[in-house]
Order: sequence, then C-alpha cells, then structure tokens
Amino acid sequence: MKIIDILSQDKVTLSFEVFPPKTSDSYESVAKATQEIAALKPDFMSVTYGAGGGTSDYTVGIAAGIRDKYGVEPLAHLTCASSTREHVHQVLGKLKESGISNVLALRGDIPEGGAPAHDYHHAAELVREIKASGDFCVGGACYPEGHPESPTKASDIDYLKAKVEAGCEFLTTQMFFDNNILYNFLYRIREKGITVPVVAGIMPVTNGKQMARICKLSGTYLPEKFKAIVDKFGENPAAMRQAGVAYAAGQIIDLIANGVNHIHIYSMNKPEIAAGIQASLSEVLK
Ligand code: FAD
Repeated sequence: MKIIDILSQDKVTLSFEVFPPKTSDSYESVAKATQEIAALKPDFMSVTYGAGGGTSDYTVGIAAGIRDKYGVEPLAHLTCASSTREHVHQVLGKLKESGISNVLALRGDIPEGGAPAHDYHHAAELVREIKASGDFCVGGACYPEGHPESPTKASDIDYLKAKVEAGCEFLTTQMFFDNNILYNFLYRIREKGITVPVVAGIMPVTNGKQMARICKLSGTYLPEKFKAIVDKFGENPAAMRQAGVAYAAGQIIDLIANGVNHIHIYSMNKPEIAAGIQASLSEVLK
C-alpha cells in the first residue's frame, strides 16, 4: 500500500523507525529489534539510509523483510548527496525488485570537506527522479525550526514548496520538543500553499545528556520543562526512559487533540520505547 493512501484515511496513524546496523556484527540485534517493533503493528515503518555508504546497504533488505515477514508497510529512506546517479538507480532497481513502493527522498548530510559525488545537490532533484523512474510514493523531510543550513525559515519553506511541486506526496518533520513550533510551521506552510500530509516526527528522549548535545548542535529548541526533566533524571537511565516516554506521549496527545493525525516515532531500534509510547496512547489512538 502507498503511504499516501494510509495518510489519506480519516484516522490517526502511528509509525515507527528503525536504522540498519553499522556492521554485519550487529545485524542480528537490529533484526530482533525490527521484529519486535513490527509486532506492534504500526501503520508503517521507516528504515533509514546511511548518508555515505555503510549502513545504506541493508536498507532495502530490512524494508522488504518488514513487509514480507511481518506484514507492515515499509518506507525506505534514500539519500543522494553522496551518491552518483548510477548508484541511486541501482538502489531504485532493488526497491522495485523487492516490491517496495514507498521512498523517503533525502539529500543527506554533506560530510566535512564536501560531498564525494556531485550528481545531486538537493532532495527535490531526487524526488523528481524517483517519480520519473517508477510507480513510487515519495515523501520528504521538513524542518519546523528551519533546516540548519537555511538562511531564513521563509527560504526553507520556499524550497520545501519546490520539493513538493517536484512530486513529494507527504512530509515527515524533524524532531521538535515544543508543539507550538509545529503549529506555527503548519500555519506557515499551509499559507504558502503546501497542502500535502505532514507526519509529526517525535523523538522520545531516553538519554537526556546526549540529546541536549544533539539539540545544541542542530539548533533544536529545548523547552524549560524538558530541560528540567533532563537535569533531574539525566543520570538515572530508567527514570530518564520513563520520563522521556511520558514527555513524548504528552506531546502526541496534544498534537492529536489539535488535529495533527500522523505521528512518527523516532524509535531508534528500541522496541521497549515504541511499546511504551503505544501503551500510553492505547485509548487516544482509537
Ligand atoms: P533538502 O530538501 O535538499 O534541503 C537541504 C537544504 O537545502 C535546506 O536548507 C533547503 O532549504 C536547501 N535547499 C533546498 N533546495 C534548494 C535549492 N534549490 N537551492 C538552494 N537551497 C536549497 N539523513 C540520512 O543520511 N539518512 C536518513 O535516512 C535520513 N532520514 C531523515 C528523515 C527525516 C524525517 C529527516 C527530517 C531527516 C533525515 N535525514 C537523514 C537527515 C537529512 O538528510 C538532513 O537533514 C539533510 O541535511 C537535509 O536533507 P533534506 O532531504 O531535507 O534536504
């Protein structure tokens, strides 16, 4: 099934994410986590793609397994900035062979020193190419706080519009910890005429200190109440996990109450986190 058809139903959707192993040594543990997360029967599951090779080799296989073994619709990520056109088409060929019809088209982060290949500069080019090469449903990323490289939020939204016009059928957001940032973003993109479904990306924080560092680097705003949780429970992994799941669940309840129906959990190969979120929303998701 195409993700756009799942998102077009008049219902709340919950999706989870897994990332492939860095080496073959950790393949088994990722496969186990994938199985446990799939057993929660989310509306779909996404599989990330390593920007500079490495883990990208496993994306198609893991995505195919999610559908064939567990009957959950997969969304395979694909990045382009570090790839040649030839490589991108090889991956698209494998996706077609495996019957995977949903792709999240991304530029990927540019490694320090610049991208090793120069066939693609922006995700919109990849979106256009995927749409031209088969019957794929293509999604893209968006940034409620603006992409870190964007000079202004307005220019980021202008380029986002171009990405949607290139064929992007839905958008998944970068993580955010203050829902008002998402509501403001939705208002701005709708005003600009971007009407495709937006899936809200929620990161349940289980390692507070690490997350505070990531957010500082990416410029993600940390609300005071979130900082207080990290300050209080950051040194106690079990308490931080519980508080992180509760914070994410609170965000999701507020989102759904305000009409944001599509929720994607950055579940980071942690079945207990995905299950914890789902359990705390069992009535809300009905
Ligand atoms: P783009 O849409 O190309 O935007 C990147 C920047 O370029 C923005 O600042 C944009 O405003 C600007 N821009 C766009 N078009 C133009 C133009 N024509 N001229 C000038 N500027 C322009 N990374 C991975 O490596 N693997 C993954 O699996 C992965 N999954 C992700 C999933 C989600 C939901 C998100 C939010 C991010 C993900 N990323 C992943 C990270 C992503 O690759 C990076 O954030 C990357 O820096 C930008 O990718 P993009 O597709 O948003 O790029």
